[in-house]
Amino acid sequence: MKKKLVSMILATTMVAATLVGCGNSGSSETAAPAATEEAPAAEEAPAADAEAEAPAADAEAEAPAAGGGKVGVAMPTKDLQRWNQDGSNMQKELEAAGYEVDLQYASNDIATQVSQIENMINSGCQLLVIASIEGDSLGTVLEQAKEKNIPVIAYDRLIMNSDAVSYYATFDNYMVGTKQGEYIRDQLDLDNAEGPFNIELTTGDPGDNNARFFFGGAMDVLQPYIDSGKLVVKSGQTDFETVATANWATETAQSRMDAIISANYADGTQLDACLCSNDSTALGVANSLEANYTGEWPIITGQDCDIANVKNMIAGKQSMSIFKDTRTLASKVVEMVDAIMKGGEAPVNDTESYDNGTGVIPSFLCEPVFADIDNYKELLIDSGYYTEADLQ
Ligand code: BGC
Repeated sequence: MKKKLVSMILATTMVAATLVGCGNSGSSETAAPAATEEAPAAEEAPAADAEAEAPAADAEAEAPAAGGGKVGVAMPTKDLQRWNQDGSNMQKELEAAGYEVDLQYASNDIATQVSQIENMINSGCQLLVIASIEGDSLGTVLEQAKEKNIPVIAYDRLIMNSDAVSYYATFDNYMVGTKQGEYIRDQLDLDNAEGPFNIELTTGDPGDNNARFFFGGAMDVLQPYIDSGKLVVKSGQTDFETVATANWATETAQSRMDAIISANYADGTQLDACLCSNDSTALGVANSLEANYTGEWPIITGQDCDIANVKNMIAGKQSMSIFKDTRTLASKVVEMVDAIMKGGEAPVNDTESYDNGTGVIPSFLCEPVFADIDNYKELLIDSGYYTEADLQ
């Protein structure tokens, strides 16, 4: 099992080394310039609880001749900003390419997601794009998709143990983890500084295959320093299951950190770094530190560049995040959808890293980008992802 993960991880790294991001080059027929250039409108994210299911009012009136057909898009939850952006970007771009879109959010409830997918299958969707809540829970419903020859693209999170999955599109998850680990290594100057330094680890939902890649990537960098004693995990909590956070919930990460601080750092012991696999968990850790910790503020990693976390970066309460431009992933997936709907093969750049238990799923991996206080303006504001006002 571990060996398999390591080999998956190695393969991912090798592929990552050859990646040049996942822009739109090479896709001419799907080009939807207006939608691609447009900000995913941060103001749309919070407002997304207003009928995400309804076709966007501003969708182009006349569909370009190229497209046609109905696409189901299943997203896990509106609770996290990124999924609102993923969903609305994809809807906008698919509609601009001439497709009808059935976009659903499942409030992180597996049964809800299963029935939404069932409805999509029964209501005539010809292709499904699914960001699963739990990778292992969709096998049965997807058998129905397979029977009806409905192709499935796993979006961001791999759907496990189902041979109905045709493609996988994501950011390079292992690379996300290595960027976080390398940041901690470099900031603490682990190769030169004497240490030892104290670190605590927090990762994501154990049912999300990505979490193992994020944590695996970071630990491949950090584990040698833990082994040598230069990094010390005072809580003793180092294995994936123990440091996992159900549903990636901020409150869960926060209360776990409360317990860690009171048991290990309440006497003023310095905590030097917190590895957090994403922004929702980083937020919980930062909230806990703010309430309970009196030492010097530690390095905190994250992922997603959520608004609350970018604000924390600006305020010095989070050190870095990873920017995964949901516009880029949405555009790539629209390109994949369009190719499949026209009877062709979707573009992929990785055919060895992601085995879902039924075989390797051909994947397109986009490149995640490091973000911190020094480059966030260029990455997030100049690119139109957020406005200045969003971050105030
Ligand atoms: C995504 C992350 C996200 C996390 C929580 C993961 O599958 O890749 O970007 O932070 O889920 O929603």
